[in-house]
Amino acid sequence: MQTVFDRGVDQSLIAEALAPAVFGSMWLDPDVVGPRPHFPPLSGATNCDLLVVGGGYTGLWTALHAAERNPGAAVVLIEAERLGWAASGRNGGFVDASLTHGTVNGKSRWPNEFDELERLGMANLDGMQADIASHAMNVDWERTGMLTVATEPHQAEWLRDMADGGEGDFLDREAVRAEVNSPTYQAGLFAPDTCATVHPARLVFELARVCAERGVRIHERTAARALERGSTGVKVTTARGTIAAQRVVLATNVFPSLLRRNRLYTVPVYDYVLATEPLTDAQLQRIGWQGRQGVGDSANQFHYYRLSADNRILWGGYDAVYFLGRRVDPRYEDRPDSFRKLAAHFFITFPQLADVRFTHRWAGPIDTNTRFCAHWGLAGRGRIAYVNGFTGLGVAAARFAGDVCLDLLEGRPTERTELEMVRRKPLPFPPEPLAGIGIQATRWSLDRADHNAGRRNLLLRTLDRLGLGFDS
Ligand SMILES: Cc1cc2nc3c(=O)[nH]c(=O)nc-3n(C[C@H](O)[C@H](O)[C@H](O)COP(=O)(O)OP(=O)(O)OC[C@H]3O[C@@H](n4cnc5c(N)ncnc54)[C@H](O)[C@@H]3O)c2cc1C
Repeated sequence: MQTVFDRGVDQSLIAEALAPAVFGSMWLDPDVVGPRPHFPPLSGATNCDLLVVGGGYTGLWTALHAAERNPGAAVVLIEAERLGWAASGRNGGFVDASLTHGTVNGKSRWPNEFDELERLGMANLDGMQADIASHAMNVDWERTGMLTVATEPHQAEWLRDMADGGEGDFLDREAVRAEVNSPTYQAGLFAPDTCATVHPARLVFELARVCAERGVRIHERTAARALERGSTGVKVTTARGTIAAQRVVLATNVFPSLLRRNRLYTVPVYDYVLATEPLTDAQLQRIGWQGRQGVGDSANQFHYYRLSADNRILWGGYDAVYFLGRRVDPRYEDRPDSFRKLAAHFFITFPQLADVRFTHRWAGPIDTNTRFCAHWGLAGRGRIAYVNGFTGLGVAAARFAGDVCLDLLEGRPTERTELEMVRRKPLPFPPEPLAGIGIQATRWSLDRADHNAGRRNLLLRTLDRLGLGFDS
């Protein structure tokens, strides 16, 4: 069975549309975002109450909230490259309240505490909005909601079931096309309050500004090479210095964990993205989108897309590629096949935009675990906290994750640390080549299901029963 995305698209249109696309995140392009802050590398020896390793959202929210919880504390944040150069500067900027990678995943894993997780997720999203407002962060925050669209008849039924379950308002074909005009849409589900969009890189830069204003010492180009646990603290070695820290938070996402035992819990899965030139008013009028919602389609292999403040369309997803060997490697990022596929799917979705060109193409590894949402842990006799596994939905969850890390280090129970989701770890992935073989078989099965009215084969049903899986 074919899906709507198997339709042919003129190859010369794809080549022409991709020709101007430079490689690199549009959000981090200085010509688009303007100048960015710089922080000096660490050299020499220093000490602190809290060391945060990693300068993405998780590290920055952790450092900011640590400084706010204990205004006199010495907080240091080190980043191996530049702040936000990794996932936090490359993502779609969908800020979703869900801490569990959606309702189905959350309800099936934690049926007894799911309502609590939803409440905490909404409180986290509202808290993020409040933090952004109170610190006057200029991050293009738009609380415009999430529009999930069905491009196949069976997906329309899924959306109807989701609406019946209270996840949003069901929109029939005409109603969804009145919002965003694509001939591929069969139905939609609109959730007005659970999702915002943000400028991902500006969020990094503004978090860094506020951290620095609160006294956090930030060092870029300062990679932690080793951790040494002592009875009174943790010694962290970098290329040109050492840091003696009372407590440490590891916010290193998909990169090899400084704790070896943590490495089997996640695998890097590559996600690919395109961005268009700013649409003219006339081009935007052809597709509507006056509500500026974040949009995602509903297949296992899904696209996500949104408008930027200057009306570019960010268009990402679909291919979620795992490369045998589990490595994070920049050579996986410039993948012409994935970009051509994305461009083709863009023109299938919006044939009215055949005159629009892409200006940027990029990719990033997603820190994927077997339960599709963050897991935490403590090491070094309670002095080191870590979080990993956001699995493609970490923009809002990173803020919650930082709070959990701080709670864990404080050592007193909170409503967050009492959650089963926080106390329990997922199953690790097996070592290679088993992980690679299993993941490729799962990807193939998910593609088959998308081509077979969503019907899941034996492998997927077995993984569902075991609570295991693969996602981006
Ligand atoms: C293409 C793409 C699209 C995405 N879209 C969305 C989306 O729309 N919505 C959503 O919710 N999520 C999305 N995500 C996921 C989201 O971006 C991440 O979950 C989130 O940014 C994770 O933040 P982080 O701070 O944990 O990780 P990162 O931003 O990866 O930061 C980790 C940092 O740690 C540093 N580091 C690692 N090791 C060391 C070391 N030894 N010493 C010092 N520093 C170190 C790294 O250099 C890196 O800067 C997307 C991800 C990708 C790749």
